[in-house]
Amino acid sequence: MRTRAALAAAAALAVLATAGGCGGDSSPLPGRPTASAGPTANATAVPVDNTCNPRASLRPAGALPAPGRMPAGSYMATIQKRGRLVLGTSQDTLLFSSRNPFTGRVEGFDVDMGRQIAQAIFGDPDKIQIKVIGYDKRVSSVYDGSVDIVADTMTANCARWKDVNFSSIYYEAGQKVLVSKDSKATSINDLGGRKVCAAKGSTSYDNITKVPVRPAPISVARAGFGDCLVAFQRNEVEAISTDDTILVGLAAQDPYAKVIGPRFTDEPYGMAIAKDHADFTRFVNAVLARNRANGTWKATYERWLGDFGAAPKPPAAEYRD
Ligand code: GLU
Repeated sequence: MRTRAALAAAAALAVLATAGGCGGDSSPLPGRPTASAGPTANATAVPVDNTCNPRASLRPAGALPAPGRMPAGSYMATIQKRGRLVLGTSQDTLLFSSRNPFTGRVEGFDVDMGRQIAQAIFGDPDKIQIKVIGYDKRVSSVYDGSVDIVADTMTANCARWKDVNFSSIYYEAGQKVLVSKDSKATSINDLGGRKVCAAKGSTSYDNITKVPVRPAPISVARAGFGDCLVAFQRNEVEAISTDDTILVGLAAQDPYAKVIGPRFTDEPYGMAIAKDHADFTRFVNAVLARNRANGTWKATYERWLGDFGAAPKPPAAEYRD
C-alpha cells in the first residue's frame, strides 16, 4: 500500500505537470512522422535513425564576445535587444528542471545550463524567461521560434537533428526502469506484456517497444513523467521507464519505488536551437567549452547531482564544423 502523503504529493505533481500546458501532440512538424502518436497503443517500433553523428555539433567561432556586446546582426544580438533569453523546459523533472515549492522558481541542472547562456549574453543569469513546455513540444517550440533554446533532458538524436540543431553534449544519461519495491523484475526484459509508462514525445516511449523480449512491454503514454508517477501509484501501469536522471527524481518522491537494471540505451543530452540560428549554436558551444574547462560544469553537477557521487568528467565536445 502506498501512503496518503505519497499520493497527495503525486497529485500535486500532476497538477504542476498539467498547469504548464503539457498536452497532446498537436504540433507535429509538417512532413515529419510523429514518433509517439498513440495514447496507449504498443505501436510498431520506430526504426532507429543512424544517418548522422548526433553528438557532433557546430564548432565555436573563435573567442566569446564580452557579455552585453553581442555582434551586430547575430541572433545573440536579437536576444540581447529583447532583454531576456527564452528557455523552454519542463517543471516536473526533479534536479533538472522542477518548480521549487518554496520559491516558485523552476530550477535544476538544465535551468542552470540556460542561466549560463544568459550570463554569457547579458552578464546576468537572471535575464531568462522560462517557458514550461510539454516533452512532445520540445522540437516544435524551437522550430516555430516560441523559445530560443530548449534544455530539458533532451536526447540529441538524428531524427531530431533533421528539425533542430543541438549544442554539444552536456550530459550523458541512459534509460532504466522504475518499479514497485516488491517487484521481482530486475530489468526491462522482465516486463514483457506489462504496462510501462513514458512521456509522450520522449525517446523513452519508443525505446520501450524496441526491447528484444516477446511479448514486448506495453508502452503507455502520459503527458509528462509526473503523470507517469501518478499512473504508477494508481496501479494503472506496472513500471515507468525513462532516463536514469529522471527516474532518480521520481524515486525520491515515492518510498515504495525502486530503480532497476542497467542502462539499456544511451541518451546524450544537448540543448536544442533553431536551424536558422547557427551562430547561436556556435555561441552556446563556446559557452559550454569554456564552462567545461573552467570548472563551472563540475560545480553545476555537484550542486544538483552531488548526492549521487563525485562528478564525472564532462562529456567531451564533438564537432561537425
Ligand atoms: N531524454 C529522452 C528524450 O529526450 C527521454 C526523456 C525525456 O523525455 O526527456 O526523449
